[in-house]
Order: sequence, then C-alpha cells, then structure tokens
Amino acid sequence: MDPLEDTLRRLREAFHAGRTRPAEFRAAQLRGLGCFLQENKQLLHDALAQDLHKATQLDSAFIRKEPFGLVLIIAPWNYPLNLTLVPLVGALAAGNCVVLKPSEISKNVEKILAEVLPRYLDQSCFAVVLGGPQETGQLLEHRFDYIFFTGSPRVGKIVMTAAAKHLTPVTLELGGKNPCYVDDNCDPQTVANRVAWFRYFNAGQTCVAPDYVLCSPEMQERLLPALQSTITRFYGDDPQSSPNLGRIINQKQFQRLRALLGCGRVAIGGQSDESDRYIAPTVLVDVQETEPVMQEEIFGPILPIVNVRSLDEAIEFINRREKPLALYAFSNSSQVVKRVLTQTSSGGFCGNDGFMHMTLASLPFGGVGASGMGRYHGKFSFDTFSHHRACLLRSPGMEKLNALRYPPQSPRRLRML
Ligand code: NAD
Repeated sequence: MDPLEDTLRRLREAFHAGRTRPAEFRAAQLRGLGCFLQENKQLLHDALAQDLHKATQLDSAFIRKEPFGLVLIIAPWNYPLNLTLVPLVGALAAGNCVVLKPSEISKNVEKILAEVLPRYLDQSCFAVVLGGPQETGQLLEHRFDYIFFTGSPRVGKIVMTAAAKHLTPVTLELGGKNPCYVDDNCDPQTVANRVAWFRYFNAGQTCVAPDYVLCSPEMQERLLPALQSTITRFYGDDPQSSPNLGRIINQKQFQRLRALLGCGRVAIGGQSDESDRYIAPTVLVDVQETEPVMQEEIFGPILPIVNVRSLDEAIEFINRREKPLALYAFSNSSQVVKRVLTQTSSGGFCGNDGFMHMTLASLPFGGVGASGMGRYHGKFSFDTFSHHRACLLRSPGMEKLNALRYPPQSPRRLRML
C-alpha cells in the first residue's frame, strides 16, 4: 500500500476506535506538545532564526466582529418562510447587505418575499432575486462575500464549487438520512407517539425528521401496533380527510415518493392519491439496505424499519453511512443513549425525542460531513454572518520596550523574548 494511504488509514482507524476522545488522552497529548516546546527551545530558536530570522512577543488582543459585506442566502421550499427569514435575521443583525434567493417551488411564499418583504427593508441594502436552477447558477457566477445555502447535498456541491472560484466562505445546511435507534427496553407507545409526530409532521418534508428506525425484530413487533394506534389517533381512520396531515409539495416529489412505496413490505398505510398529492402515513418493513428507500433521503411520510440484532450493530450501521444532520436514540437506559451519542457523529442529537434540539436558540443548528458545514440559530447566526477580525492595538509610546525585539539579535536577547 502507498505509505501515505497507509498513514491516513491508520489515523482514521484510531479516530473511529475512539483513541482521541478521552480527556486524559487529550491532556497527555497537550502535555507532550508543551514538553516538545520546552525541551527543544534552543533547537527551535536556531531553526526559526535560520528559516525566518524571527521571534515573537505576546500582546493584548481583541476580536472585532465585522459584517462580511454582500451576503447571498439561498433557501429551499419545505419551510419556505422560516428557512429564508431565520438566516436573514443573522445576516442583517451582523450588518451585511443581503441578496435573498427563495425557492421557486414554494411559489406563493416566493411571491410574498419578492413583492411585500422589500417594502419593510431598506432596498438600498437588500434585494430578492427570483429563479430556479438556471437563474441561481447565473447568480452564483457573481462574487459574494458570504453564501448561506439550505438545500440538498447535490446542490450544496454546486454552490460550494461556485463559491470556491471567488474563495467565498459558505455555510451549507444540507439533508440526508437521519437514523432513529429504538432500544428493546422502551415503552413502544411512547416511542410511537414521538416518532410518528416528527416523521409525519409537514408530511415528512422536514430535514431533521427521522428517516428510518433501527430496532430488533422483537421491538418491531411491539412498535407496529403502537404506530398504527398513534396514526389513527393523530389523523383518524381516514388520514386523507384529516386537516392535520400535509400534502406533498408537487407532482415530481409525489411520483418519487410513490415509487418508494414499492420498497420492502407495507406494514401500515401505503395508500396514495395523485390528484390530491396525498401519501398516507406509511411504515415499511423487510426493507433491504440496497433498495432506493435506504439509499436516498426520503423527505416524505414514509418510515422504514430496519432490523439490527444489537446496539453494536446499530452503531456500526450508522457509522457506515454519511454523517447525518440529526440522530435520535430512544432508551430507558441513559448509558445506551450516551453510547449512541459518543460513538457516532451527526449535526445534532436528541435522546428520547425528535427535533426538539433544533428549537432551542441556545443550541447551534447545522450539519457535519455530508449533512453540511457551519451553524446558525440565536447568537450563532450573528457569529456565522460576522468576520471575526483579530486585532491588536499598541501604544505609540514605550518604544524602549520594543527595542528588545528589533535586530540585531543576540542569543541572550532572544531568550528574553
Ligand atoms: P434543492 O437543493 O433542490 O434547492 C435549494 C435551493 O437551491 C433552491 O432555492 C433552488 O432554487 C436552488 N437550486 C436548485 N437546483 C440548483 C442548481 N442546479 N444550481 C443552483 N441552485 C439550485 O433543495 P430543496 O428540494 O428545495 O429542499 C430539500 C432539501 O433541502 C433536502 O435535502 C433537505 O434535507 C434539505 N434541507 C435542509 C435543511 C437544513 O436546515 N439543513 C432545511 C431544509 C431542507
């Protein structure tokens, strides 16, 4: 094997084995770094002098949070108001000028954002640009000082590629498949209530909704009647006539979701009505990992259950996939919840509930790996839209103190610095 590949594989294996996680390990490494600097002081001084003729001196410093300048915000259709206005609050609060690009798919909200919102803002600093993929592509050819994108990983890559041409920093709020582990010791009815609520909310068109359940075959047998009972309680015997169940945004999404109903075996629901863009709250069982429903983000009211034999197998299943935006673990044992939390990675995590973590302004919201980069909500939004400028101010006087660092340097003076 190539030595570099071997090194990278070794480091990644050490990371996955959890070597770098314990506090003692981190402290030991930092102590080692301290010893390196202490024990090799002269060696390093000589090397720095040879390479750069350089010595440094600490000074008092401060961070000035400044607006980036002209910011582009690109939004999706599933929460078309929230996902444009919440980033906009951060961008404006930080002092930026903003171009807002709402989704062309949620066209009624798009119209209001384009026609009504600008009346409430200073139009010399704020503009709404309309359009779909082609127009957004043209917009992205221009230089922005920051781009905040919410949408799919596929388009996230397009946005990041365009941003790279101008070295524009980005926040990417993306999606993916959010796992939901259910331990054998859970009360199935409680889990069913909580999982069904956040899976079928907005007809499943929520980036942090649980995408699939991981549980043992025994828990599945207990969960299915509980889910059926919850769905009936939430939406009645005929969910299509329930005012509490949303519809699929358009025909394209409807057709994609209807095709997913053919994966595995329908245990609950499965009905659809094209003329109404209706898909019943559905649970699938016996699904294979290779089927489309386990390959793509579902983004609809369909919940597959995948069987695992143990917690270890569930963790291994999660870690074999891209890092999700959200990860959920249900268990009566805090140790089990903690194991799922500490042995996996995801944008956010919630134990024994769904998406409540993203409702708190005190917590940052964002993805990791394929589910995105960067964070916002509350104060984190302000920080995201601000450049953290490192500053140092000195007195114009006391020049004698500075004389120490000016050349020519002697080894004795270098040691005093
Ligand atoms: P999308 O990526 O298709 O579109 C998002 C935005 O990008 C839209 O404004 C659209 O006009 C624009 N766009 C689409 N194709 C483009 C292209 N080729 N070039 C340039 N711009 C293009 O996403 P969507 O279908 O609107 O939303 C669903 C996705 O968004 C899901 O993956 C979901 O998980 C994700 N999402 C993430 C979050 C989050 O906060 N992380 C929130 C909501 C939705």
